[in-house]
Amino acid sequence: MKIGVLALQGAFAEHLATLRAIGVEAVEVRLPEQLGDVDGLILPGGESTTMRRLIDRWGLRQPILDLAARGAPLFGTCAGMIVLAREIVGGEEPVLPLLDVTVERNAFGRQLESFETDLSVPLLGDTPVHAVFIRAPVIRRVGDEVDVLARLGDGRIVAVRERNVIATSFHPELAGETRFHRLMAMMASEHADPGEGIGRRPHPTRRSRQEG
Ligand code: GLN
Repeated sequence: MKIGVLALQGAFAEHLATLRAIGVEAVEVRLPEQLGDVDGLILPGGESTTMRRLIDRWGLRQPILDLAARGAPLFGTCAGMIVLAREIVGGEEPVLPLLDVTVERNAFGRQLESFETDLSVPLLGDTPVHAVFIRAPVIRRVGDEVDVLARLGDGRIVAVRERNVIATSFHPELAGETRFHRLMAMMASEHADPGEGIGRRPHPTRRSRQEG
């Protein structure tokens, strides 16, 4: 199992380091053909307008959509979340409209451009996630199929999942937080090697009874 990190621009090195720290094979992705070889893709933070331009320049749009359609997990952080959103406040064209959400870019204004906070993310257990926000977007609307994974104290949505696509407004990779990457690795393993839990193998106790 191998996870790719889109390495066109932005904070991709930290995602590669986080994946490698938890023992996952991680590769930089810059060209469409490299997407054939990965079981999941991380879209890092950075600048979504630049990322949009580079995705188009290198012909990555359709191959990433195809990877998602095959069921491989995608995880977008910050600018990566904007790139995955179906709708952007202000009417910018979506890039990879895979998440049925509306995002607002730079939602915290100038006073609060960057901040850190502890967030409850029940899916990841009781220990809060230390979240680093850098000129971050928030989610203004979620579709019916979207699970909300985390909110700020004021109720604003900052982490979501829709089927195989996860996105966070913040940067877990800048805070030593590995649980989103572990979740993604579990989803990528299941994608690479389906079989567990879908009834292909007899349950061990049943097997031993039959054999005995
Ligand atoms: N403000 C950036 C944008 O709108 C996102 C910032 C980030 O990824 N840290 O694209």
